Amino acid sequence: MMSFTEFDATGIELERISCDLCGGNETTLEFEAKDIRYGLPGSFNVVRCRKCHLVFTNPRPLKRASNAYYPDDYRPHIGGKREYENWFGAVYRRMAFSRKANLFSRMLGDVYNHLAYRQFVSKEVDPALVLDVGCGTGDYLGVWRELGWNVQGLEMDDSAAGIAKKKLGFCVGVGRLAEATLPAAGFDLVAMSHVLEHMHSPSLALRKIAHVLKPGGRILITVPNYASWDRHVFGPRWQGLEVPRHLYHFEPQSLSVMLESEGFAIEQMGSSAHPGSLIRSIRGLCKKGRPSGRISSVERCLGWFVQLVPALLMCGTSLWVVARLRSGREPLGENGKSAGKTT
Ligand SMILES: [Zn+2]
Repeated sequence: MMSFTEFDATGIELERISCDLCGGNETTLEFEAKDIRYGLPGSFNVVRCRKCHLVFTNPRPLKRASNAYYPDDYRPHIGGKREYENWFGAVYRRMAFSRKANLFSRMLGDVYNHLAYRQFVSKEVDPALVLDVGCGTGDYLGVWRELGWNVQGLEMDDSAAGIAKKKLGFCVGVGRLAEATLPAAGFDLVAMSHVLEHMHSPSLALRKIAHVLKPGGRILITVPNYASWDRHVFGPRWQGLEVPRHLYHFEPQSLSVMLESEGFAIEQMGSSAHPGSLIRSIRGLCKKGRPSGRISSVERCLGWFVQLVPALLMCGTSLWVVARLRSGREPLGENGKSAGKTT
């Protein structure tokens, strides 16, 4: 990926990059956006590649400057309940993913998965090992363990990783995926929940994941859906943008193409509701309350209600995909060095 450095009016060190998917340099401006969620300084262009249509933030803060955009109260780094961590989610999780689940339970689980931000894949071997990249404080590691998986995490924020290790005793490495030392062909599944959009080169990240997956292993990705109905309604004030923490803004097409070009075959793709994002978008639009403030149960219920149908129509707030590493692909070195890309 080619890049060069510049500064914006507030002195933030920026890099202008070429498209991570096709290498193109010609883009069209979607809009200019700010960090609405935390109100951090700067204004960032969201652009679309003219050639492959990948949407990304460009220019963007340099890697060494990007930590400034993860404030101390950045939610994934301080823990707390996720959308599914309530009695409803817990009940259906048990029903849907139990090996002994009956058809009715699995149907209910399927409905729940599609509507309620739950996308997991079944184990094919036992014991099976999952790597949660960007595991934060370990919420998802707990879910995977509950489902019978052996778990390992990777987290770039050392305090969040510390919570995951100390609180729940998880095996969590600290650092970025690109630099992490991981065993080749060591994992049955790699999960990344709302992580890929933060990475400086998603294509390189996928290449590294292909390297650490066992043959036929799978990847589970969740990202904000740039093609969602609420993104179209709220535009630059859509909470899913989260510039400049989100460097890429995926749509079903661009995510599929990137996965396939890195050796994965799509097995399932869908969209899901994300009531928190909707409520924060509305707050931002109305300038009522701090968008990142607590969301009440009433607000959350309303958010679910409004988002159920769009989620079924592939225009829900989040996009999820399960993809399998294709067999017979050429083995790549760690960090994809054999392909000649640089971070
Ligand atoms: Zn492109």
